[in-house]
Amino acid sequence: MRLEGKVCLITGAASGIGKATTLLFMQEGATVIAGDISKENLDSLVKEAEGLPGKVDPYILNVTDRDQIKEVVEKVVQKYGRIDVLVNNAGITRDALLVRMKEEDWDAVINVNLKGVFNVTQMVVPYMIKQRNGSIVNVSSVVGIYGNPGQTNYAASKAGVIGMTKTWAKELAGRNIRVNAVAPGFIETPMTEKLPEKAREAALSRIPLGRFGKPEEVAQVILFLASDESSYVTGQVIGIDGGLVI
Ligand code: NAD
Repeated sequence: MRLEGKVCLITGAASGIGKATTLLFMQEGATVIAGDISKENLDSLVKEAEGLPGKVDPYILNVTDRDQIKEVVEKVVQKYGRIDVLVNNAGITRDALLVRMKEEDWDAVINVNLKGVFNVTQMVVPYMIKQRNGSIVNVSSVVGIYGNPGQTNYAASKAGVIGMTKTWAKELAGRNIRVNAVAPGFIETPMTEKLPEKAREAALSRIPLGRFGKPEEVAQVILFLASDESSYVTGQVIGIDGGLVI
C-alpha cells in the first residue's frame, strides 16, 4: 500500500475530486483527515468509506476560517503526531462575464480557491518542517493556465495556486517538502453538472480523448504526487484533461 501509515489532510474532501481522493488514499492505507464545510456530505463520505483499509477522520473545516484551521490542525497533530500529506482541493466557482461579475463573486472565489490554499498550507507547513518531510498537492485547473471566458475570478485563483506551488517548491525543498499541482480539465463532479448542455457539448468537442474525466482519474495522479513514488518531483503542474490543452 502506497500510503500506509501516512496522515493526509484533504480539504473539500466530501464531494467530487476530494471524495475520490479520500477513498483512494484509504485504499492505499492512509489515515485521511477529511475537511469540508458540509456536515451532511462528510457523514455520507464516512458511510461510503466503511470497510476500506485506511481510516477517515472527518472535520468541519472551512478554508477561509483561519481560527478553525488552526484548531483542527493542532488537534490532528496532537492526535496523530504528524501530517505527511496535504491536498488543497477545496474550490468553488461563481461564473460571470467580466463586465457583469459582482465584486462579491470575485471576493468569494479568491477567498476560497486562493487564500484558502495559503491559509491551510501556512498552518500545516510548520509541522512538516519539524518532521523534515511532507508532500503538498494543490488542485489548480487548466483554466489557471489557459483562461476561460466567464471565469475571471476562477482563472485568477487557479493561476495564483500555480504561482504559490512553484514558490513553495523552491522555498521548502531544503526541508524535504515537495509541492506540486494538478490541473484537471473537465471532470464529472457536482461542480460541473450544473453547466448548461451547450457549454458541455462545446467542451467535449475540444477534448481529444472524446470524453470528460472522472474524479477517480484525478485522484490517481494526486496519489502519485502524494506518495513516495514521486520522491524526485517538485514544482510541477500535471494536466489531467484528456489532451484538452495539448
Ligand atoms: P465539488 O463541488 O464536487 O467539491 C468541492 C468541495 O469543496 C465540496 O465538498 C465543498 O463543500 C467543498 N468546499 C467548498 N467551499 C469550501 C470551503 N470554504 N472550505 C472547505 N471546503 C469547501 O467540486 P470538484 O469538481 O470536486 O472540485 C474540487 C477541486 O477541483 C476544486 O478546487 C476545483 O476548482 C478543482 N477542479 C475541478 C474541475 C472539474 O471539472 N470538476 C476542473 C479543474 C479543477
